[in-house]
Parts: sequence; C-alpha cells; structure tokens
Amino acid sequence: MSGLCRLRYKAAGFRCKSYRCLVTIALLTALLCAWPGSKAAATEETAARPGVWTTGFSNGFSLGIDAVPGGVAMVDIGPERLPEPTVTWNDKKVLVQKNAGRWQALVGIPLTTKPGQYELSVFSTVERQTTFRVKNRRYPAQELFISDTSKVTPPAAALQRINTERQRMSAARQSWRTDFDAAMFRIPLQGRQSSQFGLRRIYNGKPGNRHTGLDLAAAEGTPIVAPAAGRVIEVGDFYFNGLSVFVDHGQGLITLYSHLSDTDVSIGDQLKAGETVGLVGSSGRVTGPHLHWSVGLNGVWVNPELFLPRDP
Ligand SMILES: [Zn+2]
Repeated sequence: MSGLCRLRYKAAGFRCKSYRCLVTIALLTALLCAWPGSKAAATEETAARPGVWTTGFSNGFSLGIDAVPGGVAMVDIGPERLPEPTVTWNDKKVLVQKNAGRWQALVGIPLTTKPGQYELSVFSTVERQTTFRVKNRRYPAQELFISDTSKVTPPAAALQRINTERQRMSAARQSWRTDFDAAMFRIPLQGRQSSQFGLRRIYNGKPGNRHTGLDLAAAEGTPIVAPAAGRVIEVGDFYFNGLSVFVDHGQGLITLYSHLSDTDVSIGDQLKAGETVGLVGSSGRVTGPHLHWSVGLNGVWVNPELFLPRDP
C-alpha cells in the first residue's frame, strides 16, 4: 500500500469527523492510489469504505463513522505495538479490536444518548482519557396493530413474569468474557427487512418502547444461522420476545434471536459461524412470522445493520 493510500485509511478511520473530510481525502488520493504499482491499495480502498465490510484487509469490524444514538463509535486507542488496552465507558468494559495495526474501541451508544462529546477511560501502560463525539439522529415512528391485546396491555397476572424476564434479558445483554470469537458477521437470515432498528413503536395507537433490533420476515420454519462463532448464554420463552436465544461472541458483543418457533440449542453450547440457532416463528408479540435480531455492545442494543456487509 502506498503511503498516501495508507494516509487515507488513517484519516477515514481515525481523524475525519465529517463526510466532507472523507470525500476530500478520497478525491485527493484517488488518482495516486490508481497509479500502477498501487493495485493492492486500490483493492483495499474499495473494501474499507465506511460501513462496508473489510474482508481481507483487517481482522476486525469496520463500522464506518456512525457515532449516533443506537450506533457505534470507533475510537482509535493507539498503535498495536502497545500492550492491549482495557477501555471502559460509564464503568462498562468496551470491545477492543485490532484494525490496520491499531487498537480500536467499538463503543455501543444507547438510543437515549444526547449529542455531544463523551469520555472513555483507557488503561494500558498508564491510565488516560480519550473522547468521542455523538451526532444527532432522529428515528421515525412505526404504527403496528397487534391482534393479541394482552401483548399490548398485559394482564396484572403477567407483570411479575415480565419483570423477572426483563432482569434475565438485561443480564444476558450485559454479559462479558475476554475471548473474542467474532471477527466478522454474516446475515443470520435472508429475509425481507420488515422493520428497521430504532423506530419509535406505536402498538394499537399506544406509544411503546423503541425497536431495538432489525426484523427480517421469512416463512415459519426457515432456519436462522449464527452470524459468527459464539456461546449460547440464555434460552427462554419470553412474554414479549417469544422463544429467544442469546449468543455471546465475546468482548461484550451479544446477539439475540426472538420470536422463534423452535430451537435445539441450550445454554453453554458453543456455536460455529453458520450453525443453526433456531427456526423463524411468531411467538411473543408479533404481526407475523419473522426474526427479531438484536446486536449488543457494552450492554447496549445497537443497529445490527452496522455489522453486515452492504451486499450480503
Ligand atoms: Zn423486532
């Protein structure tokens, strides 16, 4: 890779704070990168565009620069030759990966986060602080009609069950282990995207919670596969989410598969990428058969689309 092409990567990944900056650098270096002798660089340039998969280039996720509520901040921590850092945000450990010779933190940003500058704590040879900026994003509303009204206004008898399940799901979402099984994701189901992440949900005219996953509609019984290797940490039949499986990919990266019709996996199972997690169903609160797929980082649900190749 030529020096200027390398510079563009660094600028795109770690220094640019706006698309205007990225476009400017891309224009300035595009001609140079296209010179004979820079073929490898040109290939890598294509693979490393923001939001596009980095197959063959890095050994980690490349999520672009979507540091918005419900998104992920990619924060440069320092060169790979330094000892592996421990990074925390709000006292929660944050995923750290190697990417293009650098340590890089991937910080899950809650949907409720206000735009502004935030501070990460970095523990390496010394303790220090580093900052990242969260931009604004407003998500649209979505109105849904649920024929089973007990799933919109639960009866009093169900409230204790719902509360207990909420705690189980929260514990699974916040799971942490140091091993990191996932270097990249594939889509768990080739289905129509029937509902996007982040939408402000309105059930039968009543405002509900935000949509913290991506809905993929497919026929009942369609197999759903693990997008990457991971360990099953929770399986249950939940009031709203129906039959669900949580998979821990390490470093606080968690995936959730909900509304299943069936699953053969159990807590403790180690899954390989592509192994079946369960089958599409319509258990829980649904309007039809689909997979509700959530992706968590540092205990926060973030937009699953950030983890997928643009053309799966
Ligand atoms: Zn959903």
